Amino acid sequence: MPELPEVEIVTRVIRPGLRGRVIQGAVFHVARQVVSGRRTQVTRSLIGQKVADVRRRGKNILVNLDDGVLVFHLGMTGTMYIRARQKDRFSHERVHIALDNGNELVLRDPRTFGKIMYLANGQRSESLDRLGWEPLSSHVTVNELRQKLANRSMGIKAVLLDQALWAGIGNIYASEILWEARVNPLKPAKRLTVDECERIIEAVPRILSRALKNGGSSIRNFMSPDGQSGAYQKQFRVYDRDDRPCVRCGTRIIRVVQAQRSTYYCPKCQKMR
Ligand SMILES: [Zn+2]
Repeated sequence: MPELPEVEIVTRVIRPGLRGRVIQGAVFHVARQVVSGRRTQVTRSLIGQKVADVRRRGKNILVNLDDGVLVFHLGMTGTMYIRARQKDRFSHERVHIALDNGNELVLRDPRTFGKIMYLANGQRSESLDRLGWEPLSSHVTVNELRQKLANRSMGIKAVLLDQALWAGIGNIYASEILWEARVNPLKPAKRLTVDECERIIEAVPRILSRALKNGGSSIRNFMSPDGQSGAYQKQFRVYDRDDRPCVRCGTRIIRVVQAQRSTYYCPKCQKMR
């Protein structure tokens, strides 16, 4: 599943090819992926609009237009690229947006869990409005974090997945962040100490910017139309490493299931205090 670093990479790769371009047509091949209304209507709204900018918010890609914004969520298997418009289509391509310079923006998404939403100026989206801090850029204080955790008795790992806290932290990086911060993933969020909160606040941007940097070498793989993702897995310190030694202390990494998702941690570095 594309996590924040991959979504950021896609955003950076497609931005230069989209900025300033005018949309000439749009085909949404899977109706249910368009969640903001009928796809023919969305197509009509898009034609003739100029792209002002492209940015990421959480795990969403926002294409800002003269009137409103076109939002893509890559779901489980989505990726996007720009190429010269062509008759031959690769398999699993679900969206084609024709641009005025002969290129097209493509969403390729084998499992079709990706979502597309168009919001005209002034229209709101509940899922966008509730997004929390940006992991790479928000300055978060310990007090702000403790306030948000005050009523949460679930384990901190499960709480980190709530997009209303930090937007864009997924299952992989939640484990990585807590290993880095030496916080037990099962500890009730409201019982975290000031020190633990501080370490999480430091770990969030560190882990995600490191992943982004490492992902840079696999941009080409990630962006290829056959959808092979790059070498992200190699960089994990704890995720998917159960029964293998902790790279910090040598203790065996444990895997537990928390809110139906796998969580990995080191029982020695991440003691329940
Ligand atoms: Zn350890």
